[in-house]
Amino acid sequence: MDSCLFCKIVAGEIPAKQVYADDDLVVIEDINPVAPVHLLVIPRKHTVNCLDLTEDEDRVIGKVFRVAARIAGEKGIAEPGFRVVSNNNAGAGQSVFHIHFHLLGGRNLTWPPG
Ligand code: AMP
Ligand code: ZN
Repeated sequence: MDSCLFCKIVAGEIPAKQVYADDDLVVIEDINPVAPVHLLVIPRKHTVNCLDLTEDEDRVIGKVFRVAARIAGEKGIAEPGFRVVSNNNAGAGQSVFHIHFHLLGGRNLTWPPG
């Protein structure tokens, strides 16, 4: 999608600090981190958010969590814990309308979130 920030990042048209990439996903450092580890797991295919998913995305969304868990281990945040979270629509804090999953850790994460 031409005007989408994350489509441009996925395509390499806008620079980002990439920590992982494969045919389905790109993982980058969030530009405005809210935790010592704050990465974004971004499916390459443009989808707005969870409300926009179809069965075609099932495999990739499952992979999001598997890759996030592996990176959490590599970053040393698997213990004591980390969070994988997706904001869906503006009222939940979504500001980039290309589906992505925040991988957060490295500090105590309180519940419920704000
Ligand atoms: P959300 O608000 O859930 O849609 O998450 C969007 C995230 O993208 C925010 O945490 C932003 O800090 C982050 N972000 C925005 N622009 C960039 C960028 N150019 N590179 C990396 N992260 C970005
Ligand atoms: Zn996009």
